[in-house]
Amino acid sequence: MAKPIVVGFDFDGVVAYNPARLARYPISFIKQNILGIHTVSFFIPKNGIERAFWSLAHESSMFPALGVTHLRHLVSEGVIEAHLLTSRFGFLEPNLRRFLRFWNLSNVFTSVTLNTREEQPHLFKERIIRAKKFEYFVEDNWDIVSHLAANLPRRQKGTRLTTVHWIYNIFDRNQPYPHKYPYLEKSLEHIVTGRTIKATP
Ligand SMILES: [Mg+2]
Repeated sequence: MAKPIVVGFDFDGVVAYNPARLARYPISFIKQNILGIHTVSFFIPKNGIERAFWSLAHESSMFPALGVTHLRHLVSEGVIEAHLLTSRFGFLEPNLRRFLRFWNLSNVFTSVTLNTREEQPHLFKERIIRAKKFEYFVEDNWDIVSHLAANLPRRQKGTRLTTVHWIYNIFDRNQPYPHKYPYLEKSLEHIVTGRTIKATP
């Protein structure tokens, strides 16, 4: 049997459907157009009150995304080796583990990596993806996707070692990007099809 495709998945907005993520668009619009902030930087909650609000905001990731059933199947068939890579901070781990148990996903992921050192999310994800050498990484945050697409290492021929799939939302869907998908299921279909093509001599 062929080796499984090693794929990393973001959690919020990719494996978990999170209606609250739509709130990010106005936030990044205000940052760029009103405050004039163009560098990528993310808020990191430091004290107890900030963390309590942050946990509450993440409780909205309550449902598995469309495609999770397909993902479970691909993993059980040995087609994909799935890794969860989330920039959620360590204190959100119990909430994440509860979600995985509740939706019968605990055995789907070979590894679960949280941002326990509280690094900037885009730098954290770049570091882990480089270390784990994912063939694909599926992410919904455009700022992170564009950072990874520009910074991950290239092969000799110039293509990236890791193909970053972007799960877009209704606000940023017009952003041009070669690997953009509306939800997890479509991204998975493409990852699996890509392998069929590569396997042909
Ligand atoms: Mg996300």
